Amino acid sequence: MQTQLNWDMERIFKGGSDSEELSQFIDGIRETISEAKKLIINWSAEQANSHTTELLDFLDKRQTAYDNLSEASTFSRGILSANVDDSKAAKRVNELSRLGSEMSDVETLFMKKLKAVPEDQWTELIAHEGLKQSSFNLNEKREKGKKLLSEKEERIIQQLSLDGLEGFGNVYQSLVNSIRVPFKKDGELSTLSAGQAANKLSGDPDPAVRESLLDNWELTWHAKAPLFADTLNHLAGFRLQTYELRGEDHFLDPALEYNRLKKDTLDMMWDTITENKPKVVDFLNRKAKLMGKDKLNWADVTAPISLGDFEPKSYSFEEAQSLVVDHFASFSQEMKELAETAFEQNWVEAEDRDGKRPGAYCSNLPMSGESRVFMTFSGSANNVSTLAHELGHAYHSHVMRDLPHLNRRYAMNVAETASTFCEMVISSATVEAAESIEEKIALLDSRISRAAVMFMNIHSRYLFETRFYEQRQKGLLDEKELSQLMEDAQKEAFQNALDTYHPMFWASKLHFHITGVPFYNFPYTFGFLFSLGIYSHAKNQESAFEDDYRELLRDTASMTTEDLAEKHLNVDLTQPDFWQAAIDEVLADIDEYMTLTDSYI
Ligand SMILES: [Zn+2]
Repeated sequence: MQTQLNWDMERIFKGGSDSEELSQFIDGIRETISEAKKLIINWSAEQANSHTTELLDFLDKRQTAYDNLSEASTFSRGILSANVDDSKAAKRVNELSRLGSEMSDVETLFMKKLKAVPEDQWTELIAHEGLKQSSFNLNEKREKGKKLLSEKEERIIQQLSLDGLEGFGNVYQSLVNSIRVPFKKDGELSTLSAGQAANKLSGDPDPAVRESLLDNWELTWHAKAPLFADTLNHLAGFRLQTYELRGEDHFLDPALEYNRLKKDTLDMMWDTITENKPKVVDFLNRKAKLMGKDKLNWADVTAPISLGDFEPKSYSFEEAQSLVVDHFASFSQEMKELAETAFEQNWVEAEDRDGKRPGAYCSNLPMSGESRVFMTFSGSANNVSTLAHELGHAYHSHVMRDLPHLNRRYAMNVAETASTFCEMVISSATVEAAESIEEKIALLDSRISRAAVMFMNIHSRYLFETRFYEQRQKGLLDEKELSQLMEDAQKEAFQNALDTYHPMFWASKLHFHITGVPFYNFPYTFGFLFSLGIYSHAKNQESAFEDDYRELLRDTASMTTEDLAEKHLNVDLTQPDFWQAAIDEVLADIDEYMTLTDSYI
């Protein structure tokens, strides 16, 4: 068990942001990158088949460079996340993103070289013993190579993005760090960081606290709205400009390609969800009634519900760990052991204090074979889910650790598969173990609420973002237009089921400002339903599903998502059946919830 609330970073590099060890390690990365660069420059693509060894040498060096970069970045970003005022850590992060961008140059060279391999040599090349495992990925890179601009132009874009795209991402982060939300409880006024306030908004059991905080939350973001409008407009502008230069047909294409997903699949997912929304609205209305309201507000959706004498359970960090370990064990011995290792080696930064960045994430240390989980643990059931979720990410990298680097880069839509699956393992077990009807209602509520977020909240993000990009192609949008677009999307996605929305969501939600991946919204819902579909599939399986599941996860970066589903689940994602089966799991929960709560309204 992890007895402290802070993670152990000293195991990785001694000395925090001052680490001499880290400095030397970073020097080593610099050298590896330049060696990798030389190797790929000297590789003769025109005579690829007689120079396969040189290509394998490059791939080896490339892997070392990427794995070392991840190791150093997880450490440096981690130090900065745990103390946003650590300027030395911020410098390290900046230094590493410069190295990352040098590596992007190498990647461009690599893709260009793959493109230059003559057609008649290509099939033979990727069938080579040392390469065939990565043939999908090599094909993908070759196709991407065909779209790229010249090496020089790509380098210019890359260099300028450090002070462009990345720069605006950093400004956004600084703005968020400066956010202080006024908070009044028991007559005492204090201020909360964005992370603390977000936690309270989604988890505080007192409706009055949530309601007053929601007002302050909206106002606090609103006070800086023009600044956030700048960052959002420029982030999108930079992207759109780049897409135009590369001749992309549609702004959604790079996101779909990145997720190895067909537009038909994405549309089918949202269409099937929309058809099933009326029942989710029934749930939201019932939840409102149970809270003594006509309609829920934005923050109520995920709020815990307590009926009768039932008080929402507050978990200690130790209890959360036991829950995770015990319930992982009921599904997979390997998942359980990984969680135990994580806790024994202090992988988790959990303390609830000021000065941390908001949100939660899991980041990997490929050289040490470990991961680190960052979060703020304040004792809610949601926090326990988050802990399980992030450890799911750790498990996913754990089962892929021996694959070639090319086969480990899974996209975001399937990245959320293992994490969501872990959440489900926890919640199913806790619902089943409920000791009273009130407890069961509370647990079901939290599970359905999470689905409601996936179906409505994330849908509103998708609607907002696609419409925003559509309009942004024609020019800038001011803060009023952004808020209007956001509120309209929320009303549509929630089918008008709420009485208060969150127009400033476009500023308060980090995901709209993530620089690494565009359209980081639908992958959540996708991963959620994909997991749920797998979970539903697993329940109907006679043999141990654990091994199949492990194989599916290992394949997540080696084929398209449609092929992954076809191969391991035998389903067609462009058809409604798989989606409906996954949604039916939620609808069954809603049915049970309606029956159990009947006597409370
Ligand atoms: Zn996640």
